[in-house]
Amino acid sequence: MPVYVYEKLEGEKGCEKCTGGFEINQRLSEPKLDHCPYCKAKVVRVIQAPGLTHSKTDLHYRAKRAGFHTLKKVQKGEYEKLY
Ligand SMILES: [Zn+2]
Repeated sequence: MPVYVYEKLEGEKGCEKCTGGFEINQRLSEPKLDHCPYCKAKVVRVIQAPGLTHSKTDLHYRAKRAGFHTLKKVQKGEYEKLY
């Protein structure tokens, strides 16, 4: 079951739970929460960073791509760095 993080909407009063954000287990089929289950303040779902796990790959990918673009083959075995 995925864990979602919700945080109170800006400007909402909120309680101690939703002010700093709270985690909740929800089925994919369950609708997302609109209100804090504790204080009924309006909440928004916070997209957690699955990006953290992706960023490494992404970085490698980008570095690799950058490498292709910034290194120009000058001669056999020689590369000129383009800035
Ligand atoms: Zn609350």
